[in-house]
Amino acid sequence: MKRAEICEALAPLKIVDYPEVPPPPPKGVVVKITYSGVCHSDVHIWEDEMDMGDGVKMKLTAGKFIKFPLAPGHEIAGIIEAVGSEAGSEVKVGDAVVVYPWLACLQCDLCTHGQPNLCLNAVERIGAAKHGGFATHVVVPITSGAVVKIPEGLAPEVACMVPCSGITTYNAVLKTKEKVTEMVRMKGNAKLLIIGAGGLGMWCIQFAKALLPPETRVFSADISEEKLQMAKEANADDTILWSKDANEQEILAQTMQRSGGVFDAVIDLVGAGATSQRAFNLTERGGIQVNVGLFGGNMKIPLIVLALHTKCVQGVCVGAPHHLEDCLKLVAEKKLKPPPLEFFTLDQATEALTRLKEGTMKGRGILKL
Ligand SMILES: [Zn+2]
Ligand SMILES: [Zn+2]
Repeated sequence: MKRAEICEALAPLKIVDYPEVPPPPPKGVVVKITYSGVCHSDVHIWEDEMDMGDGVKMKLTAGKFIKFPLAPGHEIAGIIEAVGSEAGSEVKVGDAVVVYPWLACLQCDLCTHGQPNLCLNAVERIGAAKHGGFATHVVVPITSGAVVKIPEGLAPEVACMVPCSGITTYNAVLKTKEKVTEMVRMKGNAKLLIIGAGGLGMWCIQFAKALLPPETRVFSADISEEKLQMAKEANADDTILWSKDANEQEILAQTMQRSGGVFDAVIDLVGAGATSQRAFNLTERGGIQVNVGLFGGNMKIPLIVLALHTKCVQGVCVGAPHHLEDCLKLVAEKKLKPPPLEFFTLDQATEALTRLKEGTMKGRGILKL
């Protein structure tokens, strides 16, 4: 078994060869990994830092759960190689699966009722508290809700993205659905703005098209013309290029001119202070802003505006296990298009993280094991 392990923040990952694959836990499995997605959260872990706003940087390894050496990676597809003695018959050796990595304490009400992504006691989180997908094998402590069979016809290199970038954007779109549907009922149409094109943006646009009423116009905004091209390929109704040189008032005016006013829902896939502030200002009265991205920073909300405009600001942290099953089915049935994929070997894990950190990855980086 081989792993690419972070031993020190921003240092090259160490490729470690282990003579043996660990045995499966009694209730769990060992998955031989075929493909493993490279996500921005992996970069945060590699940097050992998160921007908590107001200039506060959080050192991740100073917390309880993340310790180096660690093989990051939480977008995992593979084949079940070994099944624990008490794991039941839900999965068997040879099954092609994806892993739900957002496991936590496995015991509290949240964990036992399908919401482990909200449990703060994240001792079993794969690719964070436990070794993840930057490896040839991964140990999964349970099967129920943690390994899901890949539907027929869905390629594993696409399926591996669903447990993170897939369910996160799927969940974000679901959060807007009630509001958007209500607006369509009231006005006959609705407008959704998705901030951030690129890989996450492509998923988000396609889920919006698949899940929201057809009267919803889906706009995609980004600072990169190249990424907006991807948004067009994913069927965005319109794209808006945000110039780096324009001031905020110009950007707001240009955006509203393009869309004919503010938006009933805004999904911020970037989650920087500037984009979230913009999202808030571009959200219609009675509308919803959904925050997904973890770029970091903070935004200011005038409380009078929040109340008088009856706006909702909603956070999303990945999704629940049931989202993973539903989302896999949707991606397979609707034959949704993945972002362009760029493949790396395990030995190139450092290069993949570097490219993502520098913003030079086109689409999604995938380790091919
Ligand atoms: Zn991720
Ligand atoms: Zn828990």
